[in-house]
Parts: sequence; C-alpha cells; structure tokens
Amino acid sequence: MASQIDITVAPFKGLPAWVLSKLRPVAIEKIQAVHDWVETECIPAESIMKAQLAKDRWHTPPLMKQLREKAKARGLFNLFLPHHFPESPGLTNLEYACCAEIMGRVYWAAQTMNCHAPETGNIELLAKYANDAQKKQWLQPLLNGDFSSAYSMTEPEVASSDATTIGIRMEKVGDEYIINGRKIFGNVNWNPEMQLYILMGCTDPDNKNPWNRHSMLLVPADTPGLTIVRNLSIMGYDHAPEGHGEYVYQNVRIPASNVILGPGRAFEIAQGRLGPGRIHHCMRLIGQCERAYEFALIRATDERKKPRGRLIGDFDSNIERLAQMRLEIDALRLVVFNAADTMDTYGNKAGRYVIAQSKILVPDKIAHIIDECMQFYGGQGLTQHTPLPEMWTYARFVRLADGPDAAHRHQVGRDQLKGAAQVRKRHERYYLIAKELKRLYGLEEELAAECTWEYLDVSAIKSNL
Ligand SMILES: Cc1cc2nc3c(=O)[nH]c(=O)nc-3n(C[C@H](O)[C@H](O)[C@H](O)COP(=O)(O)OP(=O)(O)OC[C@H]3O[C@@H](n4cnc5c(N)ncnc54)[C@H](O)[C@@H]3O)c2cc1C
Repeated sequence: MASQIDITVAPFKGLPAWVLSKLRPVAIEKIQAVHDWVETECIPAESIMKAQLAKDRWHTPPLMKQLREKAKARGLFNLFLPHHFPESPGLTNLEYACCAEIMGRVYWAAQTMNCHAPETGNIELLAKYANDAQKKQWLQPLLNGDFSSAYSMTEPEVASSDATTIGIRMEKVGDEYIINGRKIFGNVNWNPEMQLYILMGCTDPDNKNPWNRHSMLLVPADTPGLTIVRNLSIMGYDHAPEGHGEYVYQNVRIPASNVILGPGRAFEIAQGRLGPGRIHHCMRLIGQCERAYEFALIRATDERKKPRGRLIGDFDSNIERLAQMRLEIDALRLVVFNAADTMDTYGNKAGRYVIAQSKILVPDKIAHIIDECMQFYGGQGLTQHTPLPEMWTYARFVRLADGPDAAHRHQVGRDQLKGAAQVRKRHERYYLIAKELKRLYGLEEELAAECTWEYLDVSAIKSNL
C-alpha cells in the first residue's frame, strides 16, 4: 500500500517506514481526510472559535456545532473506536494514532470529530460494558454526538490514583442508589450539552475484598441533589465550555438499573478502560508538539527580529536545539506508535508496559520541548500571541490526568524488580560456566583471587549445570 502514498509531503511525510507499510487503503484515505479537515477547517478557524467562546463561555460555540455536523457527514466521526466494536469505522489503533496526531495540531479539533476526552474513554466503556437498554439511552446518542459526558472518579479528600480509596457513598435502598459525597474534575454541567456522569463510588464499604467495594453508575447531569460548586481552573485556564467541575452529591437518587455491569464491578470496568484510550492524549500531544515546533521554526527565520544582526536560526546553539527537538519528537512518536501497534498485535493486556512508557515519557518530554519553543519565541511565546502557553499547559496536565506518571513509573519499576531473580540466576550461571572454563584452561589457581564475581554471593551458588 505504501506505493500509493507520497511520503515527501504531509500527512505521510515523517511517518516511520514500518508504520507506512501497515496502513490499509481505508486508513490512508482517512488520514488524508483528517489532514485536509484540520488544515482547512480547524487551524484557520482558531480565532473564530476563541471569539465565539469569549462571548458565551459555557455554551458550545456555534462553529463547533457546525463543524461537528460537517465532520460527521464526511465520515470523520468516532474514528477512535477500535475495529472489533460493531460501531467502529474500522481503523486499527496504529492507524488511528496517525489520525489523532493530526487532530492534536488544534486543541479542539478532536472534538469536531467526536474523538475527544473523556468521550472516547466513555464511549469505549459503554460499548464494552453497558447493557442493551443503557446503550440505547446513552451510547447511541454519544456516538451520534447529541450530547456529551464526563468520567467522575477523583475526590478531593483521598489519593485518587489509588481508586480503592474512593469514598463517595452509593447506598442501595430499594430499587435506588442514594449518593452522598464530593467529586472533583469531570466536565461542568453549566454547559447544557453535558448530560451524563459515569460515576465511580463505594456501594459495599464492608466487603472484605477492596476490589469489590465499588460500582459505576450512570448519573444524568440534571438529577436533583447534584450541585456544581465551582469550575476548577487548570493553571489559570478555565477550559470552557467543558471545564473541570467540583461537585457535591446530596441524597442524589438514581435507579438501580443505572449500574454498569453490576454492583461491585467498578474495577473490572476500570481495567477494561485501560486500553487504547489511555494513550489518546499522547497521540494528540505529538501533533500539538509538531505545531509548537513550527512556531519555533517561524521565529527562527523571522527577518524582523535579529539579535546582533543575525537570525535566531543562524546561531549554532539554536540550530542544535532545533535538531535536538526534531530528534526527540520523532523518538516520542515511535514510542506512541509502538504502544498502539502492540495493542493491535498482542492485545491491551500485553500493551501494559508500552502504554505506561508512553504515559510516562510523552507528556513530560513534550512539555520540555514546548517550553523550548516558547523560549525561541521570546516574551511573546508566553503570551496569547501564540497558542504555546495553552499547549504547554495541556502537556503538563496529561502528566496527571488518567493517573499521575509516578504511579506508572511505580508499576514499571515493580515489574522490573519482579524480573530481578531471573537476571540473578542468569549471572550465577555465567559464574558456573566461567568456573568450568577455568578448569578446562587450567587457570583455576591464577584466577582464584580475581574479584569479577564479587557482585554475586558466590558461596551460595550451587552447581546445577
Ligand atoms: C486537567 C485534569 C483533568 C482531569 N480530568 C479528570 C476526569 O475527567 N475525571 C476524573 O475522575 N479525574 C480527572 N482528573 C484527576 C486525575 O485523574 C487525578 O488528579 C489523578 O488520578 C491523581 O489523583 P490525585 O489528584 O488524588 O493525586 P494523588 O493520588 O494523591 O497523587 C498525588 C501524587 O502522589 C504521588 N504518587 C501517587 N501514586 C504514586 C505511586 N504509586 N508511586 C509514587 N508516587 C505516587 C505522585 O507524585 C502523585 O502526583 C483530572 C486531572 C487534571 C489535572
């Protein structure tokens, strides 16, 4: 298929050869269409979207609504849904990663294609775990883009990265659950399009097994007793019109039929949510970083601004910085593609390490690269004259959203330590073979004093060669 592709121009320029070789015609067509969409409908419309939002912060701008209808008509909706779902348009995770990178060039472009967070994770969750009635009521409209949803797990009073500590009480009384507690994050319901919370809470606090104490409930946003306290700003940005709400639940009554999968099964669902949705932010961050890099290139060649009579890009130090950024973006793209391809080839479970690798490396490194692009731009790089500050904030928040990177490092490190016993065994075997060789070459006495093996407790090694 690669022969159909012109690899000298966007959107295929820069894609690794092994990725190009795996793209099917349907994906090549979608990647080109997403590229054309973002280039012509999104990037030039950034200031219009901003102006419409400035007039009315908590309603979806008319332009967004128009673009969503147009994108749907062009077959660009829900591209993220993995191909094993009946509702999926059929892309693999790797193919979708190519599309998502392009979407990332504009913060809100994914939303025009119904491929934004937390919608993608929520749709996947409902497609996987909701029953038929729940799918009809909530999944179909979400796939259709009729309203939006939020995922509500985090609480202000516990360490939410350990979800067994989630405390909001969901008590079963008759055919209902009565909910009391407090939540933070999850889009604000000031926007009338926000109609559904997927709420994680505690239904069985006395269960001996901490993994069976929690459930997930479908909570309509207008349920009496559910009150928004405030919008949480993220490093000064309100992220309107979606926002990040702080909520109080006071005797909120929800029918028991709104439990997803069954009581006590929240962790089973949360595990299932750990698939491709976990790296969608990373996929988009690559595209966003490419855009930030373009700002650095523009500034480096701006004829109007020449310190000491030279272009910024004429200084050797800056040429090197541009090279370093290029190398790092391309390396990070490989990490994301590898995670997507591993999930395609071996399944989500086998992708555990590569997903963590993406989530640890990509936001952190990309925040550094965008920081460097801001520096290239000088003072204006930190102002609203460029989107760089918003881009940096996005990369920074992805270090926490969907779980802090420290938790992923913890998991990776623990898994590495589990392999230590095998590594030790292998080194003990080297020692035993070396001993045999010494005997063979008659070097036993000469080498008796050498300290090569002192990193092992050789006295404890028993020969089983
Ligand atoms: C912009 C943004 C959007 C968000 N959107 C949502 C949303 O839609 N829905 C939702 O429910 N939540 C959302 N969150 C919340 C996010 O998921 C949590 O902040 C995150 O899971 C961490 O939980 P916590 O804040 O309680 O911090 P804690 O769990 O208390 O962690 C704090 C710090 O402790 C350290 N730590 C934690 N675990 C470990 C470990 N295993 N090893 C070493 N150190 C560790 C880390 O330094 C970590 O950053 C969002 C957050 C942000 C910033």
